[in-house]
Amino acid sequence: SREIRLTERPHGEPTPATFELASRELPDPGDGQLLVRNRWMSVDPYMRGRMSDRPSYVAPYEVGAVLDGGAVGEVVASGDASFAPGDVVLHGLGWRDLALTPSKGVQKLDTSRAPEQAFLGVLGIPGLTAYAGLVEVAPVRAGDVVWISAAAGAVGSAAGQIARHLGAARVIGSAGGPEKCRHVVEQLGFDAAIDYKQGGVFEQLREQAPDGVDVFFDNVGGEQLEAALGALRLRGRIAVCGAISIYNATSAPPGPRNLSRLVQTRGRIQGMLVMDHFHLRERFLADVGRWLADGTLRYRETVVDGLENAPQAFIALLRGANTGKMLVRIGD
Ligand code: NDP
Repeated sequence: SREIRLTERPHGEPTPATFELASRELPDPGDGQLLVRNRWMSVDPYMRGRMSDRPSYVAPYEVGAVLDGGAVGEVVASGDASFAPGDVVLHGLGWRDLALTPSKGVQKLDTSRAPEQAFLGVLGIPGLTAYAGLVEVAPVRAGDVVWISAAAGAVGSAAGQIARHLGAARVIGSAGGPEKCRHVVEQLGFDAAIDYKQGGVFEQLREQAPDGVDVFFDNVGGEQLEAALGALRLRGRIAVCGAISIYNATSAPPGPRNLSRLVQTRGRIQGMLVMDHFHLRERFLADVGRWLADGTLRYRETVVDGLENAPQAFIALLRGANTGKMLVRIGD
């Protein structure tokens, strides 16, 4: 089996030297184990946090060890009677082409209605994150003005469309560059897009939402969070899903200078972790499955081929090279 290992903890942005391709021999699966040939793996922003040696909600990656993360593949040998060779499964041992995994926690996928890799994106953790954020953390109500940051990404693109389904009257997205902004409006049906790379985020927001925003779903932090606080309406809600603008930062940036806007607005800001919302999974799959089928929810993928190119895919993700879910397709 070939695998990608962490060679060093990155200082700032990860580089190709942060990773190495290595191989290892795998034994046959024992009792309660599966051997899976991976066909897809996910690269996700949270993996940057795990490359640093900081206590968090998941253990840091170990230097010298293989990385892990979401993957979809085909069972090739099974030591568990409830799985058979040929089953397509979702599991947590990505960053390698062959995975020997305990069968516990591995999910068999019904790929009759969606391509298998969708379970790493719109029908997987990113989709559920968007859904949970707008159903439970910063609930969208009929008539709301909603703003989504990183709107062309995996979570953000789903979030904007879910907000509409939940009754939002106006959905605004922010993304980097004119092409992504066009995609968000023309393909995903947002009402407007803000190009944060043009600067003046608060002014652009005021233009698109002159009466302010009721809900901000934040993937980015920094300047965009500050702009949202500035534009927050009475009893507005902010879900802090991520803060990708600071994931590579080498020193802590200043907090929002206008946090006291929460006093005037009686607003609420709440951090979220998708793991706390797994109880929504069936409802999420039913809703999003229906919206995909009737064409009212769309998604895009950016695919990089080859396990050996997974490091490059991850580095590119943090730089915004993706539209929609960033995936690595693993060949034989
Ligand atoms: P995306 O598909 O959104 O990819 C990341 C995007 O972030 C890039 O495409 C880029 O888009 C944008 N970006 C990168 N740097 C900056 C910057 N400095 N300022 C603004 N935007 C930037 O990734 P995901 O959908 O997987 O994740 C989105 C967010 O959701 C992340 O913050 C992630 O950590 C978080 N998350 C949180 C979960 C939770 O449980 N709390 C679960 C899953 C994800 P652009 O070109 O527009 O800059």
